[in-house]
Amino acid sequence: MKNDTPQDLLNQTAAASAGQPGTLVPITVAHGDGIGPEIMAATLKVLMAAGARIAPETIEIGEKLYHAGHSSGIAPESWDSLRRTKVFLKAPITTPSGGGYKSLNVTIRKTLGLYANVRPCVSYAPFVATKHPRLDLVIVRENEEDLYAGIEHRQTDEVFQCLKLITRPGCEKIVRYAFEYARANGRKKVTCMSKDNIMKMTDGLFHQVFDEIRVDYPEIAADHMIIDIGAARLATRPELFDVIVTPNLYGDIISDIAAEMTGSVGLAGSANIGEHVAMFEAIHGSAPDIAGKGIANPSGLLLGAVMMLVHIGQPEVAAKIHNAWLCTLEDGVFTADLQGGGVGARSGVPMPFGSMDFADAIIERLGRLPGQFKPVSYQQAPTPQAAPAARPLYVRAPAARKAMVGVDVFVHQATLGADDLAAQLQVSNTAALQLQMITNRGVKVWPGGFPETFCTDHWRCRFVASTDRGAITQRDIVTLLATLTDAGVDVIKTENLCTFDGVKGFALGQGQ
Ligand code: NAD
Repeated sequence: MKNDTPQDLLNQTAAASAGQPGTLVPITVAHGDGIGPEIMAATLKVLMAAGARIAPETIEIGEKLYHAGHSSGIAPESWDSLRRTKVFLKAPITTPSGGGYKSLNVTIRKTLGLYANVRPCVSYAPFVATKHPRLDLVIVRENEEDLYAGIEHRQTDEVFQCLKLITRPGCEKIVRYAFEYARANGRKKVTCMSKDNIMKMTDGLFHQVFDEIRVDYPEIAADHMIIDIGAARLATRPELFDVIVTPNLYGDIISDIAAEMTGSVGLAGSANIGEHVAMFEAIHGSAPDIAGKGIANPSGLLLGAVMMLVHIGQPEVAAKIHNAWLCTLEDGVFTADLQGGGVGARSGVPMPFGSMDFADAIIERLGRLPGQFKPVSYQQAPTPQAAPAARPLYVRAPAARKAMVGVDVFVHQATLGADDLAAQLQVSNTAALQLQMITNRGVKVWPGGFPETFCTDHWRCRFVASTDRGAITQRDIVTLLATLTDAGVDVIKTENLCTFDGVKGFALGQGQ
């Protein structure tokens, strides 16, 4: 086997594709870091041999770019390629540890509006050893918001904060996408997972939107689980699930768990779908521990590429590759991560295969259908992106009637206890705003706090409109802040307390 450079492979891919009927679809390709170049070379070799009609153009991303001073790991000119081709096949990259570097994945997903992260997880028993032979589910993870907004601040000596942002458009887009995906792919049930028993406003919105949208899909079963029991059930009885839709952080965690349960994280691909651009990748990282050895499993990236081919309207090529890949598993052809389990391991087939030999084994089987696995057909499946485009993803509702009824003032101080702090703050009460409550890490410590409650140096002090005022203005808050500042109070930040159409837009303190 000749050692092709990545560019050789791209040229060969384009040349091979040029012989196929239909126009070549431009795609952007990044070879990434660690095992990235090895699995991308293997993937492109299979795509080329299968006759994918693509015209790849390469961009550099990752470590090299970070070290060249691009804090997000991508050069400005690479965005031009992504915005032009609108399709990105990306190998994993290494995010350097330490401050100052932003995650490239998060930057790409958010900058290009890739709101849906779709991660099919399937067990391949008995050929790949797994404790969960009936696992066949798809995790649709919200991809742009939640704690991944990356808005973090150090507020006091002791307290650091990360803002969790959940938006109505974000919820509507991802939940509708999940149902449309289920409908388009013959899936029977969508399960929403959230933690709305604790985060009643943010996760509560996610659950509420799920309940609003599910009624548009009467043929699809729908249920909701709190994420902790949902994750536990997923780990023990994955056959209960079909499509799971969940906010960003939970989706990140449970999709790695589900992928690993199938036998290896190296087996799962993912699609990041936006209204304009889509990105396809493996779910795993750059695996620096095995980089350069030629032993990485290219399956995750290959299955990501299969999703890409469906997306760009080449479902027959996608099915040809997917079926050949299933044949390799049935024939006991494995990479090292799958060694030690499955029928292949017992059948005396020499193991393990390197990344490129594995790719060659797939190529040898192109055109064959699996004997035991159900053959894959993408002919009827609309592309994941096409489905939700059938209706507007989000229509902004008229603005609610908003009234300001108070303000939470966050204070940094480490010397006073809650009662003494309250006494100090009450002196600053204005005609419009009166101190109602103090919490520490969300728990009410005044009035009527418990001496057992541990307090940090970060206090949330709730001032509400005096009873004769009902509503307040920004100027009332400015007056209060001036009074507090004059009294020597170290105010860190404020959050306005508002009602929207008469409904409280803020949570009570724990114990209030
Ligand atoms: P990882 O997914 O790279 O590796 C975890 C374990 O799985 C390792 O033991 C690795 O050898 C194994 N593994 C992963 N992919 C494999 C494959 N294809 N074949 C065989 N074994 C495989 O996770 P990590 O070690 O936590 O992260 C390494 C780097 O990857 C970090 O810099 C991280 O930031 C980055 N990362 C990138 C992406 C991405 O680019 N999409 C995703 C996750 C992590």
